[in-house]
Amino acid sequence: MEKLILDGHLVSKEIREDLQKRVSVLKEKGITPSLATILVGDNPSSETYVKMKGNACEKIGMNSIRIHLPEETTTEQLLTTIKQLNEDTTVHGILLQHPVPAHIDERKAFETIAIEKDVDGVTSAGYGRTALGFGKYPSCTPAAIMEIIHHYELPVAGKHAVVVGRSPILGKPVSALLLNEDATVTTCHSRTTNLEAMLQQADIVVAAVGKPNFIKGDWLKEGAVVLDAGYNKGNIGDIDYDSCYKKASAITPVPGGVGPVTITMLLKQTVISAEETALKNQIA
Ligand code: NAP
Repeated sequence: MEKLILDGHLVSKEIREDLQKRVSVLKEKGITPSLATILVGDNPSSETYVKMKGNACEKIGMNSIRIHLPEETTTEQLLTTIKQLNEDTTVHGILLQHPVPAHIDERKAFETIAIEKDVDGVTSAGYGRTALGFGKYPSCTPAAIMEIIHHYELPVAGKHAVVVGRSPILGKPVSALLLNEDATVTTCHSRTTNLEAMLQQADIVVAAVGKPNFIKGDWLKEGAVVLDAGYNKGNIGDIDYDSCYKKASAITPVPGGVGPVTITMLLKQTVISAEETALKNQIA
C-alpha cells in the first residue's frame, strides 16, 4: 500500500504564497491586514508562540501589533485593552495568547473579543457558528486539520472519523467540522471505555490528547488516515508514529504536520477579515 506523508510545510507554503498576493492587493487598496496579539505575563512558551505568530505575519507583508501586558494585569485591564482593539478599525484580528495568569477570567476575556475579529475562534459565538456550519473563523488547529485533508483530497463524506480529545479549541470544533463535511464522527475522551475498539473502526483518526506517543498502531484499522494535532515536549506527537505509520494510508508527522498549518490558518483568517473590511469600505 502506498503511504502518504501529509506534509504540513508544503501545505503551509502554498497557502502563504497565495496570502502574500492577497496582502499586496489589500495594500493597494490602503489596507494592511493587521493581527494584534496580546500576551499577559512572562510564560516563556507563550512568548515564543506569540513571537512566531508575529514574525509569520510580517513575513507575508501583514502588520503585527504585539501587546505585552505585565503578569499583575487585572481582568478589567485586559478587557479594556481588548475593547480598544475591537474599536480600532486598523486591526483585523485579535489573538489572546492562552493561558493567561490564573487570577484573570480567561473566558470573560475571550468573550470580549468582537466576533468579526475572532480569527482564533475562541469566542462561544464563533464556536457555535462553526458547529452550525456557517462560522467564518474556526479555531486554527481544527481549521489546519481540515486544510490538510482538503489539500490532499482525502475523502471525508461517509467516513467514520474518531477524534480523541474534546477540548473547546481542538477536539470539539474538529469533530463539528468533520460532521459538517458528512463524516460519521465519534468523539472520545478520558471517560471513553474501550478506546481501542473505537479506533479500530476509524477511517480517519484525529489525535488531540496531549499525551506523547499515546495512540498505538495496533489500535488502528489498516489504511486509516491519521492526523496528529499533538505537540508535546521534545517535538513529540500524540500518536506513536512508527507503529501508526505501518498501519496508516496517510499520516501527519510531528513536527512538520498540523503545527505549521495552524499558524498559517491564523494568517489566512486575518487576511479574510481584512478583505471583509475592504468590501465594506467599497460598499460604504
Ligand atoms: P486538552 O485541553 O488537555 O484536552 C485533552 C483531551 O484529551 C481532553 O478532552 C481529555 O479528555 C482527552 N484525554 C485525556 N486523556 C485521555 C485518554 N486516556 N483517553 C482518551 N482521551 C483522553 O488538550 P488540547 O489543548 O486539546 O491539546 C491536545 C494536544 O494538541 C496537545 O498535545 C497540544 O499540545 C496539541 N495542540 C497542538 C496545536 C497545534 O498547533 N498543533 C494547537 C493546540 C494544541 P477529558 O475531556 O475527559 O479530560
